[in-house]
Amino acid sequence: MRYHSTRGDAPALGFDDVLLTGLAPDGGLYLPEAWPTLDRQTLTGFRGQPYAQVAAAVMRPFMAGSTAEAEIDRLCRQAYGRFARAGTCPLVQVDESSWLLELFHGPTLAFKDVAMQILGDLFDHVLAARGARITIVGATSGDTGSAAIEACRDRDNVDVVILHPKGRTSEVQRRQMTTVAAANVHNVAVEGTFDDCQALVKAMFADPPFRADVGLAAVNSINFARILAQTVYYVTSAVALGAPDRPVNFAVPTGNFGNVFAGHAARRMGLPVEMLTVASNANDILTRFFETGRMKTQGVVATHSPSMDIQVSSNFERLLFELMDGDGHATAQAMRQFKQTGAFALSQGQLARARAGFDGFRLDDAGTLDEVARQYAATGMLIDPHSAIGLAAARQRRADPQSPTVALATAHPAKFPDAVQRATGQRPPLPDRLADLYDRPERYTTLPNELAAVQTFVRGVSRRAGADAPASRVGS
Ligand SMILES: *Cc1c(COP(=O)(O)O)cnc(C)c1O
Repeated sequence: MRYHSTRGDAPALGFDDVLLTGLAPDGGLYLPEAWPTLDRQTLTGFRGQPYAQVAAAVMRPFMAGSTAEAEIDRLCRQAYGRFARAGTCPLVQVDESSWLLELFHGPTLAFKDVAMQILGDLFDHVLAARGARITIVGATSGDTGSAAIEACRDRDNVDVVILHPKGRTSEVQRRQMTTVAAANVHNVAVEGTFDDCQALVKAMFADPPFRADVGLAAVNSINFARILAQTVYYVTSAVALGAPDRPVNFAVPTGNFGNVFAGHAARRMGLPVEMLTVASNANDILTRFFETGRMKTQGVVATHSPSMDIQVSSNFERLLFELMDGDGHATAQAMRQFKQTGAFALSQGQLARARAGFDGFRLDDAGTLDEVARQYAATGMLIDPHSAIGLAAARQRRADPQSPTVALATAHPAKFPDAVQRATGQRPPLPDRLADLYDRPERYTTLPNELAAVQTFVRGVSRRAGADAPASRVGS
């Protein structure tokens, strides 16, 4: 199994290298050269199987020829054994044809754990096999950071630096990152937005000497292994609801387009996914794109669903590459134009193809609180604001009761208690394993939104930095 870059100018790699590399050296994102397929018999055979077993079966073909291939069963059992529900990602019916897929039973209470837990084990395995060491640098709007920290804390061959936008994450989110007392974990509060943090990470990846020096690796959803791990719950939920014999729709609260692209990947593998609804908050660049074919940034506004307060959805490039018929140079040109002018447009034909499988949805803060309140009144369930946007999108497209719609519940309500309390009057308690979060001491470094300052910090904490450098450069 080989992977190529969406920008057409980087060598193809195998799975282990894609896992460790993240962003391709030409600035593109890796995609498999061909999608493995899940035939009817395989899908039917998944019904009733443990989550870890389906996960290993779905992921194994993507690892063909890699050191991870032989170990994936054990690694999946280990990773998904850390979830607080035996089913890992349980489905809950909320009305006649809408379901919530609870993806938040991992260690940090958001869906990011589903991919990050297996990523941590994969890193460990591949690095030990190679005798190598990496420095993970990630940007977070809140949930990726804590999930990456939990997955990689105390690992011998990994240092972790997480950039978060100062003052723009919820207190629970921040504390889940800054209270982890592990020597290999480093938090940076950047004086900027999430998009600034993400741009800093991209700029570090675009600096080859820096990249090589610290052994830079990514845990953002630019890392294909994360997308891969996220395809699994589309498969488990769809087969539970009757796939492959009937199609299923998904409504996906979306920021970076990673989670919803994983649904598209599952569709490419043969899962009968009819419509993927891209559900946004007031930061509705993707909704506007699916309406007009034009991707155009506006300023980021803060909302009750901060993990979706994003204007530059990195993973959209993977879909763009497909809409460009796999033409890496055309994709690179559109991305360059987007970077320079803040906009690019697709042809009507390309837009029609995109709309055959995706539709857009937006919900502002008032609508989000209404949905949280409505769900509480109807069922007694507390849902978080991100999940509420997904559920509102699912209810909107209930027109065809023959094909069920699964709304992805991406965070535990206790992760966003203020919004939930405002909507319902109820304050969702943290699960026992996190009950002392507000008593633990915090540790982080504030840095300006400047590449040089952040690179100096990363070099300073990386145990890998300087290890391969000629003697004259050590300590420089
Ligand atoms: C990250 C996140 C999202 C957005 O997911 P993407 O893969 O970035 O589209 C939605 N909800 C929550 C709670 C998240 O943490």
